Amino acid sequence: MADKGLLLVLSGPSGVGKGTVKSAIVENKVFPFEYSVSMTTRKPRPGEVDGKDYFFVSEARFQEAIKNGELLEYNEYVGHHYGTPLAPVKEMLHEGKDVLLEIDVNGAQKVREKMPDGVFIFLTPPDLYTLHLRLERRGTEPEAVIRGRIKQARNEILEMADYDYAVVNDTVANAVDHIKAIVDAEHVSVKRVIDDYRKMVKED
Ligand code: 5GP
Repeated sequence: MADKGLLLVLSGPSGVGKGTVKSAIVENKVFPFEYSVSMTTRKPRPGEVDGKDYFFVSEARFQEAIKNGELLEYNEYVGHHYGTPLAPVKEMLHEGKDVLLEIDVNGAQKVREKMPDGVFIFLTPPDLYTLHLRLERRGTEPEAVIRGRIKQARNEILEMADYDYAVVNDTVANAVDHIKAIVDAEHVSVKRVIDDYRKMVKED
């Protein structure tokens, strides 16, 4: 395990601020890691860069990727497909690099089935009222859709039972600090380092 990087999976309900927290970690280089760039069929938003934020692809290309087994997991979200390319994740982990995925709870569940060694971090809203306000402020969905998202979030929040850590996104800075602490702790957890020590005592 020592020559393997950590697979860090950041997930949580829609509207909780996964994207913002991920961007803060990426932009401030909070700890050394590689970001796993997802593939999506949605169109780029202003300022988004192909190959950096996402690989923006056609539906046909996405279907081909599914067929060829190129994706570690994939999911549909509000009419678009999103998926994690498998090869770069495997390669980076093998090179000993930590890899960060920012995906929805459905995707995280599929990753857990395939890579249970990952570190699964669940980002939670401080409370449902705050989540409601955030979704409203985002201004992308009508009230009825927001109510649907809150209902979905109630169910999704209970999925944290399957995760290793719950991080409250009260402020982005606090959430980032907690995630950094988790990564530091995981690097020295006995289950990840014991093989090194087994080798050490054997050689001497
Ligand atoms: P957005 O369109 O706002 O960038 O992302 C929408 C949702 O898709 C977010 O909840 C984000 O976490 C999720 N997402 C982004 N990439 C992936 C991926 O590769 N797989 C899955 N399952 N979800 C993803």
